[in-house]
Amino acid sequence: MELQGVLDRAADGGRITAEEALALYRDAPLHALGAAADAVRRRRYAGTEHIATYIIERNINYTNVCVTACKFCAFYRAPKHAEGWERDLDDILRRCAETVELGGTQIMFQGGHHPDYGVEYYERSFGAIKERFPELVIHSLGASEVQHMAKVSGVSIEEAIERIHAAGLDSFAGAGAELLPARPRTVIAPLKESGERWLEIMETAHGLGVESTSTMLMGTGETNAERIEHLRMIRDVQDRTGGFRAFIPYTYQPQNNHLKGRTQATLFEYLRMIAIARLFLDNVAHIQGSWLTTGKDVGQLSLHYGADDLGSVMLEENVVSSAGARHRSNLLELIHLIRSAGRVPAQRATTYEHLAVHEDPADDPVDDRVVSHLSSTALELTPVQS
Ligand code: SF4
Repeated sequence: MELQGVLDRAADGGRITAEEALALYRDAPLHALGAAADAVRRRRYAGTEHIATYIIERNINYTNVCVTACKFCAFYRAPKHAEGWERDLDDILRRCAETVELGGTQIMFQGGHHPDYGVEYYERSFGAIKERFPELVIHSLGASEVQHMAKVSGVSIEEAIERIHAAGLDSFAGAGAELLPARPRTVIAPLKESGERWLEIMETAHGLGVESTSTMLMGTGETNAERIEHLRMIRDVQDRTGGFRAFIPYTYQPQNNHLKGRTQATLFEYLRMIAIARLFLDNVAHIQGSWLTTGKDVGQLSLHYGADDLGSVMLEENVVSSAGARHRSNLLELIHLIRSAGRVPAQRATTYEHLAVHEDPADDPVDDRVVSHLSSTALELTPVQS
């Protein structure tokens, strides 16, 4: 295969096959790959290509009790484990109140597959959040949680999605995609639904009007071909539904889990993935770079390798942090990172509209309370009535 010809075609916006993507991912020079992906990004966002976005959000972990026991996960505890916990609704609402207070627009409900949590639990939680904080977008959960809650409640996937959507869920975060191809998925998450099933459920959600993002966990021992196969599986569904708003790869963190960090993705592999995703996923609007698992410098670099978004100021994050992600940031720093990477920062909504474009540094937000990994009791707030 003539790599340069394929790279030129991809940079010009031509669709490339999975085989061609694998060849580029493996063998194209890193900078050439990044330059081609950046050319695609610039054309896709012509007129706003000087902007890179971020969002202010909070992950809210409602329980760490989980029956699924994924081998890469450092967060979960088996039912009846002494370190298992569940957050009550008052606590969840307090975290939502802090999010609003700090200018956050989105919450990501994230937790284990609790043996007792069916559709009713999420209806109750989302309903209470929306009643109190209608301005918060609930961008949460994924196909795995839907499959689990439907089973607990004895209802169909369609009914589970329709009910939690009616209760307040705005979009799915696409959690649980991990690695979609069967071999690596079975190794790292043997009790999770298959990759095909994960996609089927997301396709059902898209058909019911609930859009989502898509994710990929890199570095648990999967091959390059399996990474590209993961992208192909997403692109095929996206051709039918158009419901994936973004693709977000992130890297496996090695601490406190059963895989024990025996394999990990390198930062170069991560940057190559950002670039090949921009080139291959010609039907997905946004590619998100990350500072949380790969560090701030690599996050900045990702903006030159095809990413148009640098993720979020995560007011709270416990899942990948439990597995060793040590990077921390805040709003002022995130804005600085984007600006010093040569882009104009813009706060975005969940649906990627620009809420505030920070053209002039003199007008930058100055609230230094907006920090990642905030303690839940950090702010003095009026008590929330449940
Ligand atoms: S990744 Fe999610 S489903 Fe898997 S063990 Fe952890 S909490 Fe449970």
